[in-house]
Amino acid sequence: MAVMKADRLRQLPPYLFAEIDRLKAELVAKGVDVINLGVGDPDLPTPDHIIGELAVAAKDPANHQYPSYSGMNNFRVSVAEWYGKRFGVQLDPVSEVLTLIGSKEGIAHLPLAFINPGDLALVPSPAYPVYHIATMFAGGESWFMPLVKENRFLPDLDDIPTEVARRAKLMFINYPNNPTGAVAERGFFEQVVEFAKKYEIIVCHDAAYTEMAFDGYRPMSFLEVPGAKEVGIEFHSLSKTYNMTGWRLGFVVGNAEVVGGLGQIKSNIDSGAFNAVQFAGIKALEGDQSPVAENCRIYGERRDILIEGLKAAGLDAEAPKATFYVWCPTPAGFTSKEFTALLLTEAGIVTTPGSGFGEPGEGYVRMALTVPKERIREAVERIRKLSFNTTKASA
Ligand SMILES: *Cc1c(COP(=O)(O)O)cnc(C)c1O
Repeated sequence: MAVMKADRLRQLPPYLFAEIDRLKAELVAKGVDVINLGVGDPDLPTPDHIIGELAVAAKDPANHQYPSYSGMNNFRVSVAEWYGKRFGVQLDPVSEVLTLIGSKEGIAHLPLAFINPGDLALVPSPAYPVYHIATMFAGGESWFMPLVKENRFLPDLDDIPTEVARRAKLMFINYPNNPTGAVAERGFFEQVVEFAKKYEIIVCHDAAYTEMAFDGYRPMSFLEVPGAKEVGIEFHSLSKTYNMTGWRLGFVVGNAEVVGGLGQIKSNIDSGAFNAVQFAGIKALEGDQSPVAENCRIYGERRDILIEGLKAAGLDAEAPKATFYVWCPTPAGFTSKEFTALLLTEAGIVTTPGSGFGEPGEGYVRMALTVPKERIREAVERIRKLSFNTTKASA
């Protein structure tokens, strides 16, 4: 039988990491000590008190049955309280909070609720690939909002043609940002709310990194801006904050109709997150927060070592105020892919080409701070020995 894949699979862009994975496997096979700055996955363990709660909850047979579609009530209450404490945002746990099986799950399903074939979504570029792909899976089209250094990696809303804005149903934004490490301030979110009201666009803010920030900086929630809840929702996740990427627990909050629409889609696809994992999530949100600060301290230390080392090698990367990503400009004469290939083959360092996150990411590589500082030191030593910058190399 000839298996014919659906158009939505055939339309998929080539897998971002395919070529890198192949080169990496070759090097590992040759015995090269590869340093992986490629993946945005915390290397630090989930705090013990959260694991302990899972162990207890997993033994309770009441948790072995199907969970509630919209999420365990206690978990949603806990999310609402956390939002109140952390951001001063009041949420109704019943209608304005929904448990997700990781925020990627919610982001990926959202367009099914609001995009009809041919509808437009405003999607940043470079970006987390899910926004565009989920739009495409729902039959929609993406209009890409370039994130460039000149505009501090924020979309320029004045650049969006009126015709496009009128057709758009959704807008995705993500701050603190993956892959650029950029942050957004109140003024930008206010502009987004005004724009969304004018053109009746649902704003989906991906806030996965609000708790990963440095030097005392505290990223804000999009929902802190007056009127935000009328136009939008915010995706959040326990993945990065509590080193829980493997646990698959996130949530969406905000506009009740939008949250409800996503809930309708989900109730026809999945059957909720394991209750024992939600109990552990409550422990994470309500328990000791010192591991979050400790994480930030560790990532901050790694960031400083990497930034300093890159500068010494002639690479002018800015220190991010938040996220565990360094968005490093490529040296003159190198495309993103060429520089990624050089770093891998000549220095055994895995990074991600900026262009893989969208064409405006050309000219950058993303480095994730997800290895111990000794490995980062080793990485910068190796980068300094490369001869991409002849003046620096001969100095
Ligand atoms: C890591 C990440 C997420 C979180 O994904 P989960 O599914 O919650 O693990 C969401 N958005 C962005 C931009 C991310 O980098």
